[in-house]
Amino acid sequence: MSKQRKQPNNGPNIQKEKEIVNEMIGLYCRKKHHRDVLCKECQDLKDYAFLRLSLCRFGEEKSACSNCKVHCYKPTYRQKMKAVMRRTGPWMLLYHPIYSVKHMFNK
Ligand SMILES: [Zn+2]
Repeated sequence: MSKQRKQPNNGPNIQKEKEIVNEMIGLYCRKKHHRDVLCKECQDLKDYAFLRLSLCRFGEEKSACSNCKVHCYKPTYRQKMKAVMRRTGPWMLLYHPIYSVKHMFNK
């Protein structure tokens, strides 16, 4: 039984990335869609991003998604995520300078 392979990742790095994704999409939806609660589209994107993180083949060893050679996102979600990052990137730099710096070095 190779049950272990199917365990979703939930180590500290993955959890941290989920927090960041959650904040980015929340910020994006507030700014772009003027919602306090995630709209359906953004909720869908968040669920998808969380799932991809949980199933990331690199687990705790993962680098920045933007830097990853494995394009695990479907093209439509990838486009949406890019838009989110473009829009919220400068804000995230203000809120999470350490995280951003870490990702810059990963590039
Ligand atoms: Zn939205």
